[in-house]
Amino acid sequence: MNDDCPKCGGYMKLEEKDTSSGRDIREYKCTKCGYSDWEDRGTAMWKLLSDAREEAEAKQASSTANTPAVSEAPASKWKRFFAIFSRTRKK
Ligand SMILES: [Zn+2]
Repeated sequence: MNDDCPKCGGYMKLEEKDTSSGRDIREYKCTKCGYSDWEDRGTAMWKLLSDAREEAEAKQASSTANTPAVSEAPASKWKRFFAIFSRTRKK
């Protein structure tokens, strides 16, 4: 953004920076005439970071779902349990 006020040519001072919407919005105010303007600097840094983290978490979630460890059927667990139980009773 141009630092000069479009109305009087004065210096446009950065008044406020708002990234709460996920966009980097900067508000400028002329130090001479008080004219204010704002600028959209694109996606806010925290939004970029959180998007990258969400993407990484999604990748991680899909990779753990593909591991064979969680695909054990409940029936085989019970069979194993009763096998252990009957072995200990025979002692
Ligand atoms: Zn001005």
